[in-house]
Amino acid sequence: MNIPFSLPLIDTDVINEMHDTLTNTGWLTSGPKVVALEKEVQKLTTAKAVVCVNSWVSGAMLMLRWFGVGSGDEVIVPSYTYCATALACLNIGAKPVMVDVLDDFTIDPSKVKAAITSKTKAVIPVDIAGWPCNYDRINEIVSEPAVKKLFTPCSPNQEKLGRILVLADAAHSIGAFYKAKPVGTLADITVFSLHSVKNVTTGEGGAICLNLPAPFSHDEEYKFLKALSINGQTKSAFEKNQAGGWRYDIIAQGLKVNMPDLCASVGLAQIRKYQSVLLPERRKIFQFYSEHLAKHDWAILPTGETGERVSSFHLYLLRIKNISEKQRDQIIQKVSEKGVGVNVHYIPMPMLTLFKNLGYRMSDYPNTYQLYANEISLPVYNGLTEDKLKVVVETIAEAYYSTI
Ligand SMILES: *Cc1c(COP(=O)(O)O)cnc(C)c1O
Repeated sequence: MNIPFSLPLIDTDVINEMHDTLTNTGWLTSGPKVVALEKEVQKLTTAKAVVCVNSWVSGAMLMLRWFGVGSGDEVIVPSYTYCATALACLNIGAKPVMVDVLDDFTIDPSKVKAAITSKTKAVIPVDIAGWPCNYDRINEIVSEPAVKKLFTPCSPNQEKLGRILVLADAAHSIGAFYKAKPVGTLADITVFSLHSVKNVTTGEGGAICLNLPAPFSHDEEYKFLKALSINGQTKSAFEKNQAGGWRYDIIAQGLKVNMPDLCASVGLAQIRKYQSVLLPERRKIFQFYSEHLAKHDWAILPTGETGERVSSFHLYLLRIKNISEKQRDQIIQKVSEKGVGVNVHYIPMPMLTLFKNLGYRMSDYPNTYQLYANEISLPVYNGLTEDKLKVVVETIAEAYYSTI
């Protein structure tokens, strides 16, 4: 049996929505479907404003630029994440300062605190696998008087906020909760990824949620960010296309990172049934793995929910006790030969050539290495049937016993 690691959901709802876009709206790029998707994300998260863009990384870059982060500035990120978290900083000229993670894969707040300098402008915690990080502690740290005193504003938005920006990398965590609050309302800025492998997808895409304190105006910031995402242009092509709508202005040096309606259609069909159908299905897959792997004393199971946090069940990060990185790789090889797609999330950034060349060293992040070395991600997506899940569990167990 062939079981891919990941498959995007393309069902009749998606096809119908796409068909509607192509045949009824007469519009391909940013227009009514993007606005509808933004409203759905807002409904799901209760965020104060939502701006859709063409990827997580462009959304994060847009928001760092909006905050005036650039050359000479530092942004704190976890060493255990997909490279995009750090690339968002590098791409706008800032330095990613990596810190180690806790045993649940999320950024270690005490390490965040220790890494803060007068150059720190933002911290980007990651809800890895859909598991929310310790938002309360991170928000507390950036508001501590001594930390605020160290903060040296050098842009109007930095003046206005008066402290380090918390920009959540929620690429995995749409629909997750922390202390009964939905992800999207827990940091100043939260960015979801709507990439093909994520829980809700537009093929490529991202959604920025704003949750800024006073005196920021969410209506004004929404308008400004919509412009900033299309070269700083005050009107989209859709708006210019209305009778008499030709005149526009370029109000700031923006990026060209808007989401097309074609992409939004796919996500729109998915997000409408995300909370009622798609997310509960993922949760069941997660629970199936945990129930069936629990009998193996070599399996270290990930946590999906506690009284305090509920995951979006994006990834199932299985770990295996007392094996080396090499043994893990052998197990993966055997599982792959049986046609079961598994993965590793993630190869820590300090192990990747770009970051090694920039001077980051794996030995500085021991917990990250420990978590990575024995980790195997199992397939989680809508449409995975129970007999396939059984095959995944059996294949993993066979590969383990024939390796160890
Ligand atoms: C997928 C992912 C991203 C990047 O998302 P894009 O939409 O492809 O830019 C960023 N961070 C994490 C943790 C991711 O998994």
